[in-house]
Amino acid sequence: MADHNFDVVILGGGSGGYAAALRSAQLGKSVALIEKDKLGGTCLHRGCIPTKALLHSAEVADVTREAANFGVSANLVGIDMPAVNKYRDGIVDRLYKGLSGLVASKNITVVAGEGRMVGPKTIQVGDDNYTGVNVVLASGSYSRSLPGLQIGGRVITSEHALQLNFVPNKAIVLGGGVIGVEFASIWKSFGTEVTIVEGLSHLVPNEDEAVSKGLERAFRKRGIDFKLGVRFSGVEQSEHGVVVSLEDGTKLEAELLLVAVGRGPNTAGLGYEEQGVNMDRGFVLTNDRLQTNLPGVYAAGDIVPGLQLAHRGFQQGIFIAEEIAGLNPVAIDETGIPKVTYCEPEVASVGLSEAKAAETYGAENISTYEYNLGGNGKSQILGTAGFIKLVRRNNGPVIGVHMIGSRVGEQIGEAQLIVNWEAYPEDVATLIHAHPTMNEAIGEAHLALAGKPLHAHA
Ligand SMILES: Cc1cc2nc3c(=O)[nH]c(=O)nc-3n(C[C@H](O)[C@H](O)[C@H](O)COP(=O)(O)OP(=O)(O)OC[C@H]3O[C@@H](n4cnc5c(N)ncnc54)[C@H](O)[C@@H]3O)c2cc1C
Repeated sequence: MADHNFDVVILGGGSGGYAAALRSAQLGKSVALIEKDKLGGTCLHRGCIPTKALLHSAEVADVTREAANFGVSANLVGIDMPAVNKYRDGIVDRLYKGLSGLVASKNITVVAGEGRMVGPKTIQVGDDNYTGVNVVLASGSYSRSLPGLQIGGRVITSEHALQLNFVPNKAIVLGGGVIGVEFASIWKSFGTEVTIVEGLSHLVPNEDEAVSKGLERAFRKRGIDFKLGVRFSGVEQSEHGVVVSLEDGTKLEAELLLVAVGRGPNTAGLGYEEQGVNMDRGFVLTNDRLQTNLPGVYAAGDIVPGLQLAHRGFQQGIFIAEEIAGLNPVAIDETGIPKVTYCEPEVASVGLSEAKAAETYGAENISTYEYNLGGNGKSQILGTAGFIKLVRRNNGPVIGVHMIGSRVGEQIGEAQLIVNWEAYPEDVATLIHAHPTMNEAIGEAHLALAGKPLHAHA
């Protein structure tokens, strides 16, 4: 048994953990980063990057299928799934090499192996103990299932869905949240008949209701079927497929069932509870400085209750490194975290939904405006529909931006600056948006909310 001492010991090399490592090293700390699998974690290997690569292949398939609408003669002959996977793996490999090289160049000690908390400041890996002046827990998350719903065979999670080397003829997606609608979108573009089952009354139920309804309209138009407000009751598998039963008596048949009902914290058996870390249903509880109840022990990423997003993890990792270094960083405001769902059409938002804003400030104290992309030249060129919805406090700043339409994810940068810098619509209305871009729609929406609409009917 050997003992190693560092300023900062980090358990988990995903978005939260590696960001904490890079920033700590930059701030002159000695760092051990413990990872049992590959640096980059879920996001790089099983999440954000591979799914967005598949979504890009899906977009190419759609463009090819619809090429005649743009005067281009092309035939979609088929989807070569092994080639799609090769393209995706190439991207992941390049980014993985880049990240590994970056971490190596920063004098961070990467410890390959499974870590376990054996003391309030000590993580054991094999026969070695790594003790930090500070410890960061960043062990990430796993695909959850429902009680009694066994994963295996034709009942798969997103990890398995990413590894398929064929396009299913027919698939059922359990869960209409981000991961569910992204896979539904990919498969539909690849030619699969898709049905989504969502227990709540809307797809992407965490979004503003207008956006959820917009996505439902768009999916209906694309021929993606969905059942809302009805719960799953069971699944039977055979050699050829699955039969999924719903609580209302409906039976659905398909080749595969994708279970996309959320992600649970990966904390069981890691010694956190034994060492006295305060937890709630497996999540690690922290204060707004991301500190657990144990002095000098912090937590970042998906194990901390809240939005499970890579960029939240990065920011938390950076925050913790700066907090440890005594830089007193500004606390992260969860409502200011931008969210993008990369299905077709895309959904992007930041800040409060209309319902949440009304609950917080009173319905009489807020105003909303929806700018339809029908009035935006670039959206017409691309052939997309959708809108940008703003929520403002009366005589006050914009507190929510909600968007739906192809490529709106690329607009989230400006939206998050507007909300996080508490801009007034009148401030944004004076800024120039280049023509013809989809970005102009943000400008137009703010012009309208500031009382001087240009290309808007209302
Ligand atoms: C299909 C899918 C698509 C997604 N798409 C997006 C997206 O488009 N945008 C977005 O922002 N987010 C997306 N996410 C979410 C994003 O991947 C996560 O929020 C992010 O990866 C969380 O980072 P983390 O550091 O908390 O955990 P992880 O990335 O899960 O990293 C945790 C790391 O800890 C390691 N580890 C765990 N236990 C131990 C141990 N005992 N010893 C050593 N190492 C250990 C794991 O191997 C892993 O590498 C997606 C997720 C999925 C599943």
